[in-house]
Amino acid sequence: MSKRVILSVAVPAPLYQSFDYLPPGGVNPALLLPGSRLEVPFGRRHCVGILLSVKTDSEFSGSLKAAIRLLDAQPVLDLLMCRLLDWTAAYYHHPIGEVYAAALPVKLRRAKSVGEKKQSVWQLTDAGLQADPDALKRSPRQRAILLTLQQHQKKSDSGMNREQLDQLGGDWRSAIKKLIQLDWVCKSTRLSTNTAATSTDGATNTEPVTAATDKQLTLNSHQQMAVQSMQQGLGQFQVSLLYGVTGSGKTEVYLQTIARVLEQGQQALVLVPEIGLTPQLVARFRQRFGPIVDVLHSGLNDTERFSGWQRASSGQARIIIGTRSAVFTPLPEPGIIIVDEEHDGSLKQMEGLRYSARDLAIMRARLSNIPVLLGSATPSLESYHNASRGRYRLLHLPARAGGALHPTMHLLDVRAQSMDEGISWPLLQSIQKHLDKGGQVLLFLNRRGYAPTLLCHDCGWVAHCQRCDSHMTIHHKAQRIRCHHCGAENRLPANCPECNSDAMRPVGQGTERTETALQKHFPNHRILRIDRDTTQRRGQMDALLKQAESGEADILIGTQLLAKGHHFPNVTLVGILNSDQGLFSVDFRASERMAQQVLQVAGRAGRADKPGEVIIQTHSPEHPLLHTLVQQDYDQIARTLLQEREEVKLPPYSHIALLRAEATQAEHPQTFLQQAAKEIAGYTNKVETFGPVPAPMERRAGRYRYQLLIQADERNSLHNLLNAVIPKLSTLTPAKRVRWSLDIDPVDSY
Ligand code: ADP
Ligand code: ZN
Ligand code: ZN
Repeated sequence: MSKRVILSVAVPAPLYQSFDYLPPGGVNPALLLPGSRLEVPFGRRHCVGILLSVKTDSEFSGSLKAAIRLLDAQPVLDLLMCRLLDWTAAYYHHPIGEVYAAALPVKLRRAKSVGEKKQSVWQLTDAGLQADPDALKRSPRQRAILLTLQQHQKKSDSGMNREQLDQLGGDWRSAIKKLIQLDWVCKSTRLSTNTAATSTDGATNTEPVTAATDKQLTLNSHQQMAVQSMQQGLGQFQVSLLYGVTGSGKTEVYLQTIARVLEQGQQALVLVPEIGLTPQLVARFRQRFGPIVDVLHSGLNDTERFSGWQRASSGQARIIIGTRSAVFTPLPEPGIIIVDEEHDGSLKQMEGLRYSARDLAIMRARLSNIPVLLGSATPSLESYHNASRGRYRLLHLPARAGGALHPTMHLLDVRAQSMDEGISWPLLQSIQKHLDKGGQVLLFLNRRGYAPTLLCHDCGWVAHCQRCDSHMTIHHKAQRIRCHHCGAENRLPANCPECNSDAMRPVGQGTERTETALQKHFPNHRILRIDRDTTQRRGQMDALLKQAESGEADILIGTQLLAKGHHFPNVTLVGILNSDQGLFSVDFRASERMAQQVLQVAGRAGRADKPGEVIIQTHSPEHPLLHTLVQQDYDQIARTLLQEREEVKLPPYSHIALLRAEATQAEHPQTFLQQAAKEIAGYTNKVETFGPVPAPMERRAGRYRYQLLIQADERNSLHNLLNAVIPKLSTLTPAKRVRWSLDIDPVDSY
């Protein structure tokens, strides 16, 4: 008796196990390779699953269904990628089928063969081939089509498709219907050839693709050491932390390391926080390496994404720059993974499969036995800690490249100062001074909109969001009030909805309001606002950055969109308008994030030959963190913050997961999490739970949100516990009444 063949398949469903199927009828067993897509019946629908393994036994006692068909002649995921995804599912305790689905471009999640498009073709039958067109004299349209088909078929021995028939003009469909009735024409479907691989549209490349023109820079000694040790370490797994102050030339280290990777016939994957924010980085890669650079980011449509994916997996693309989900890009010849701005929060996916692209990059490099390079001027405390313990190799670039000086930085005590729309008088004077000297000014305010609150001066009414514990932000230009948490919006009321007074006052500052104030103070200068509201449409960010960079604009005002990675050679003054928020947040990472943000913004000052100045407005000039900040001593900051973490046993001195639950009634998430906490307590004493507590914003989009913090000294204890407890959670009675999710290594408690 021949052995049974059973396929273990990852099916995109919120379930933790894989599912067993029999092979589809008539398929060559040699083609049943892990990583291939299968169309399978699942409940009442069909879906696309990934073949995990082929085995001879099933633990499933019922009769197995057969898969419907094998979708690909070759696996879409290689074995290393499958191992990475298995690890991802296990580490994040996420349903395996959803993990596999998340790793595929949307196009591959549908039951269509890769690159094959079905196409209708109309072809003459033998009778049609021999028919005399003059028999159709009374129907000139039919006659013309018959003639064309005959000529076409004699030449190419094939039928015609829709595009070809369309070129004849007029209504060919009803004519061809008649020809079908006469049995002169038959219609068939055919697979057209792979469209993506032959596409030359370069759709993923928003910039025109030009040949490489740029020459390598002569490295300074620190860069040289970094590049050398990276080049020597190729071909084996190692994590290196490139810790280089802003403007120290990290990009050049990436470029020259990659050059060696390419020489060895291997590919490089470069992960960046947000592509829209790094057109300059992409441009530098293209100038250096030309069209072998491919870009993958969330702004692409499905077709563009898919063709980038294909260029990577066919080996056509040698360097792939992408945002977090690009960590799943297939690479037949991986040589290095680089994670730029490794501290950045947007490398963490906050919905669904909540993964850290940085951590997955490290695991992927380990599985592929290649080096991974993490770059930052302000490393995450985790990476900093790992580097100081020697687990990561530290590559330090302590000085700015090309002789640019560090900016000077000072605190500006704004208590009791006269302020105009959030800008203090001394800061206004400094702005004037820098503008007079021909410098550019960059102001940072991490709040978009006109003002964060609308208040009735007569009765005290405040514009609250109906669905969130939050105020509505005023957007003056649009004459709207909007909730930045759930997207709710309304017309800006001219009168108070409570007392009908017209004494409506904006309270607090947003970038739009600051822009207006600046226009008043500096009417002869060009002001540019860069935030999510001014950069929504495709290409806007690029255009604004170009204006900023070229010096066309004199004053830049923006949110953190302005702070990341940009190189503005003319900026000599950076003003940080409101840094105090970060000092008093409940989130344990708030001070780390604030320090990183301030230093990143500050790093925009004086990057070329003009010396820079940074002014931080604050109401808490005595705050120790701010004092260390102005010393620009990130080592000191990191050491202090790490010590605080150690004292209260927070990561990296412990391992945490956050179990979140939400529902329209507050009691359901509470009972769910209480029961979860009880389950956990019954299982082990190596893991502690804290809570449930309301999320920092308890109600959002009409739902009450609670969370349970799960903490362990050892990573293994945490994962063993979750392995045992997570499957039970869905069986708890209140589980049906809540939406719950698990966040491993959360970066954010909102
Ligand atoms: P980072 O990414 O570390 O902030 P960049 O890589 O953007 O810094 O480099 C900052 C500036 O210094 C860029 O204009 C870059 O061209 C320049 N630069 C980098 N390395 C060198 C070098 N070895 N010699 C001269 N200029 C350099
Ligand atoms: Zn009122
Ligand atoms: Zn809201």
